[in-house]
Amino acid sequence: MEQARQMLQHHFGYDSFRNGQAPIIEQTLRGQSSLCVMPTGGGKSICYQIPALMLDGLTVVISPLISLMQDQVEALRAANIPAAYINSTLTVQEVNETMQLASAGYLKLLYIAPERLESATFLQVLSNLSVPLLAVDEAHCISQWGHDFRPSYRAIQKLFTLWPQKPTVLALTATATPAVCDDIRQLLDIDEQSTVITGFSRDNLAFSVLIGENKERYIKDYLVKNKNEAGIIYAATRKAVDAIYELLSRLGESVAKYHAGLPEDMRTSEQERFLKDEARIMVATNAFGMGIDKSNVRFVIHYQMPRNMESYYQEAGRAGRDGLPSACILLYASGDVQTQRFLIEQTQDEARITQELAKLQTMVDYCHTEGCLQNAILTYFGEEAGVPCSRCSNCNDGREVKDVTVDAQKVLACVVRMGQKFGKTMVAQVLIGSKNQKMTEFGFARLSTYGILKGQYSSKDVSSFIEFLIAEGLLAVKHGTFPTIYVPEEGKEVLMGNRTVMRKEAVSVRKLADNDPLFEHLRVLRKEIADEEQVPPFVVFSDKTLRELCDKKPMEL
Ligand code: ADP
Ligand code: MG
Repeated sequence: MEQARQMLQHHFGYDSFRNGQAPIIEQTLRGQSSLCVMPTGGGKSICYQIPALMLDGLTVVISPLISLMQDQVEALRAANIPAAYINSTLTVQEVNETMQLASAGYLKLLYIAPERLESATFLQVLSNLSVPLLAVDEAHCISQWGHDFRPSYRAIQKLFTLWPQKPTVLALTATATPAVCDDIRQLLDIDEQSTVITGFSRDNLAFSVLIGENKERYIKDYLVKNKNEAGIIYAATRKAVDAIYELLSRLGESVAKYHAGLPEDMRTSEQERFLKDEARIMVATNAFGMGIDKSNVRFVIHYQMPRNMESYYQEAGRAGRDGLPSACILLYASGDVQTQRFLIEQTQDEARITQELAKLQTMVDYCHTEGCLQNAILTYFGEEAGVPCSRCSNCNDGREVKDVTVDAQKVLACVVRMGQKFGKTMVAQVLIGSKNQKMTEFGFARLSTYGILKGQYSSKDVSSFIEFLIAEGLLAVKHGTFPTIYVPEEGKEVLMGNRTVMRKEAVSVRKLADNDPLFEHLRVLRKEIADEEQVPPFVVFSDKTLRELCDKKPMEL
């Protein structure tokens, strides 16, 4: 390991290894195949690059993206390390030349796309080389349970029998749930003990979930407040990317865009502009970013909720790779769920759709959770939750925690009485005592007359309470043509009185009486803002808004 440390210093100019790097390098040098799970920006590349320098022969690196290979090879060459790549951008002659260099022992690392392994001629050439180490970057691509399955990754298994001795395998990924880890280990024949997982927590990132914001306005304000900072804005669709790009360009922002619908040369040049700080904002779909090593990204804003937690953490994790405080903001609206549902349902494979919808639900749960967001992420990735981060929007909302067990029991009991066959909206309607036609149609007219939560909750509050119970795992969603909700084991514990439910106090609303002094204040405000004479009989604001309004004089608004 002393020699490894010298290599780190000599070739890369770093004094010490980061968390997880040393044990991975040591195992790899001992010839033990390993799985390395480290967050984005954790420093996975060095884990195979240093062993590659120290082992005799050629290290083959499987990498999913052309741009990623090119960047890595350029960086290695700049550090005086003989490396090359083979992918579809090379001519046949260039491929041959590269393979000749490799055969002559001039190369230490060779990056290839997994599709290459489908060529028998290529495998033939490879079989004549001495390959001690096989690095599989973005290893989650091999798993169907991952969020980025690439069937061609399965061809990696052909390399296990290509030489008399199976090379040492080092699989690397940033976002692997326990199920994905199991899958990777099984497919690449790695022992469970040989897994090195460094903490997932990124202590310089502050996560926020903002519900019901005016998204455009929020982004405009954010960019004004954070004037010189670089950041990425992710949207779910190309159309949304184009629209935000237009909006920001019109405002005179220095902005680039990226999505799969743009011609390749434009994608490359837009990416370059962002990487070289010529454009400070990148607006993109999830097509942008894998392997991007831009260290000074200060914020990642999600204009829409992404389709699963893996994608979210990977995309948000592109903020703050330099370790400085950075913001990860998710702007959530319930319509985002429909957008993602629609996108998921475009795929043909039924089994996959069911699986993706379940993942989408965990993403929605994240948006509705009331505990520490950092901990919610850690728990999702199978890590134990730590003390609340005190940086995220939930840790900083200043709300108190209350016992809501009785209300939870009312909701769960209602779900049971309705036969656990209905969706959230139906249940909410029954709970607030709706008199609409559907009640009679489905035979709930009587149940609904109780208005179990009527007066206590508005219909919007009931919906958000149901979302909360789902996020807590006390209600569960069964996906199908119509998603329905049912009471799982955890919820039954609540019904039986064996478990209490704590929730942060709801954003309370206050109805203003005619003689409330605030009423006059608001009337003046209204006139100032909208020039409206008419003020509704009562105005409902959250306590926070109310407090803020009271602190301001009319003219400031
Ligand atoms: P990952 O693949 O895990 O997302 P990279 O391998 O691209 O991360 O590394 C991220 C950044 O961290 C790179 O700029 C790299 O040079 C830097 N880095 C890696 N190891 C160290 C180290 N031991 N000390 C300081 N910086 C490091
Ligand atoms: Mg990487």
